[in-house]
Amino acid sequence: MNYADFYQRSIATPEQFWQDESALIHWNTPCTQVLDHSNPPFAKWFVGGTTNLCYNAVDRWAASQGDKAALIAISTETNTERSYSFTELQREVERCAAVMQSLGVGRGDRVLIYMPMIAEAAFAMLACARIGAIHSVVFGGFAANSLASRIDDAKPVLIVSADGGSRNGKAIPYKHLLDEAINLSSAKPAKVLLVDRKLAAMELVAGRDVDYAELRAAHMDAQVPVTWMESNEPSYILYTSGTTGKPKGVQRDVGGYAVALASSMKYNFCGNAGETFFATSDIGWVVGHSYIVYGPLIAGMATIMYEGMPICPDPGIWWSIVEKYKVTRMFSAPTAIRVLRKQPPEYMRKYNLTSLRALYLAGEPLDETTSQWIYDELHVPIIDNYWQTETGWPILSIAKGIEDLPTRLGSPGVPMYGYKVKLLNESTGEECGANEKGVVVIEGPLPPGCMQTVYGDDQRFVDTYWSTFTDRQVYSTFDWGLRDADGYYFILGRTDDVINVAGHRLGTREIEESITSHPNVSEVAVVGVEDKLKGQVAVAFVIAKNAAEVSSDEQRAAQEKEIFAVVDRQLGAVARPARVFFVPQLPKTRSGKLLRRSIQAICEGRSPGDLTAIEDPASLQQIQNAVQNGLKN
Ligand code: AMP
Repeated sequence: MNYADFYQRSIATPEQFWQDESALIHWNTPCTQVLDHSNPPFAKWFVGGTTNLCYNAVDRWAASQGDKAALIAISTETNTERSYSFTELQREVERCAAVMQSLGVGRGDRVLIYMPMIAEAAFAMLACARIGAIHSVVFGGFAANSLASRIDDAKPVLIVSADGGSRNGKAIPYKHLLDEAINLSSAKPAKVLLVDRKLAAMELVAGRDVDYAELRAAHMDAQVPVTWMESNEPSYILYTSGTTGKPKGVQRDVGGYAVALASSMKYNFCGNAGETFFATSDIGWVVGHSYIVYGPLIAGMATIMYEGMPICPDPGIWWSIVEKYKVTRMFSAPTAIRVLRKQPPEYMRKYNLTSLRALYLAGEPLDETTSQWIYDELHVPIIDNYWQTETGWPILSIAKGIEDLPTRLGSPGVPMYGYKVKLLNESTGEECGANEKGVVVIEGPLPPGCMQTVYGDDQRFVDTYWSTFTDRQVYSTFDWGLRDADGYYFILGRTDDVINVAGHRLGTREIEESITSHPNVSEVAVVGVEDKLKGQVAVAFVIAKNAAEVSSDEQRAAQEKEIFAVVDRQLGAVARPARVFFVPQLPKTRSGKLLRRSIQAICEGRSPGDLTAIEDPASLQQIQNAVQNGLKN
């Protein structure tokens, strides 16, 4: 195949193109209209068609290759390995679906899943898909306030959780966070279903909490028929950070998502039924949804769910998994590879990695050093891919299943089929020329698989994503980019206040809101600062209410610790800033707008940029001093 023709066909005749692709999945009834774009920017794919994500991921393969491995759950935290064939997976999913039904969950109801990386989390997701319930998976590393805001927004009838997770051999109890979150929330779920891993204390709240093992035992022979969903019914909500403190619920459909995943498994990930896929992400993130749970299974592959660190019990652990399960395609993030690069290389060289055909990396920019190092170790293609929670599958990459185009260091590649990617000048809205920096946008309709709307708030979808430019309606990725003369794109960072810490997307506003709840914080600015290992780290600059309480190094250190604890407790350690510096004032424009970019530039040793609008230039020097003094301690 030829990339240029393939891509062109997807753009020139999208309906024909996606109609052809839709044959990759099973439809209970075919669609009556491939695309309804009569109400832009909303796009409806495969209108009138009925299908089911769980059927395509599980039942279809249970029928044709029931004995083949489907889900392999490995935990180096609890030293367990559980493997489920497609037939066994179907049974477990039916049991879980029956349990959910017994708790009153039906089509269109929301189920919030707050779980560690255990097989039951995948059962719960697939069970929701089976019965037409909408899941909302919340990353297990988030704490009470983050969880509460997601409960309030999704209003789940059921929460599925566990006694705890485990990190680096240390149990992380979930239950008290969950109870606190439910207390904080105004949309309390009727039921909470809990998996007891015997890792942490788990007191059941009478009348609300139920034990999964007990209910499962009552539904061992359950047969739960698939609910055929109209293609555009919602399948899930996944919250992601943006410019405001309130996370956005990215809502996805059923049919379009299934088709997009099936296509990407074919063209991007070149996965074949019967092989094994290993994505090292977490089900709480979009990679976990698309390429731990749904994508590989839809392609009939076994998928590995890994709970544990990349370097425990030793830095060879991932490669031992690749060898043992003959992983053919692996998906990770640059941060993880940078962590491995710091380890002695003998660990990965111990294993037979001949099954591995390619390593896919996404979530943050892939730097040359990391890419070259891992290539030298593995000698397989290292494939960068750029996308977002909102799109659900790659926007830019090199799809080797279409054409083996050469990769270009520093570039994730070229636009993927279906995405009308453009670069627009920020102020004029004109298209950029070669090597000219602009905002990466996508012209509508977004291809299948992308977000349908912001859950419960169509206007927010339009206002947030489609209103960056006044004279044309395009979807903004909120990333800067440029394209070279050969059409390869380069991603140059976010245009908004989102930061990317170790591949995790965090909103600086959310962190600021949390820090402000500390009694001695009057104002705060959080910025993302370049970090060799994590890509970026969050750094907070705080104006104390009572400056006398932060006048000595000891006092500042103590308050920094307190602020860490506040963030840990409210949002989770994942959002904890790397440092908190105390300053007498923050740089702002005369109209009161915080100059985050200038703060960030100073932290990274760059020029603070155009300062004509600054209220008090001395504030920048104060930031500089705080950083210099702070770093000495
Ligand atoms: P998330 O929604 O958490 O997947 O984060 C999406 C954001 O991560 C994008 O908007 C980019 O800023 C960044 N990102 C993801 N993949 C890449 C990549 N391959 N190269 C550069 N930045 C990336």
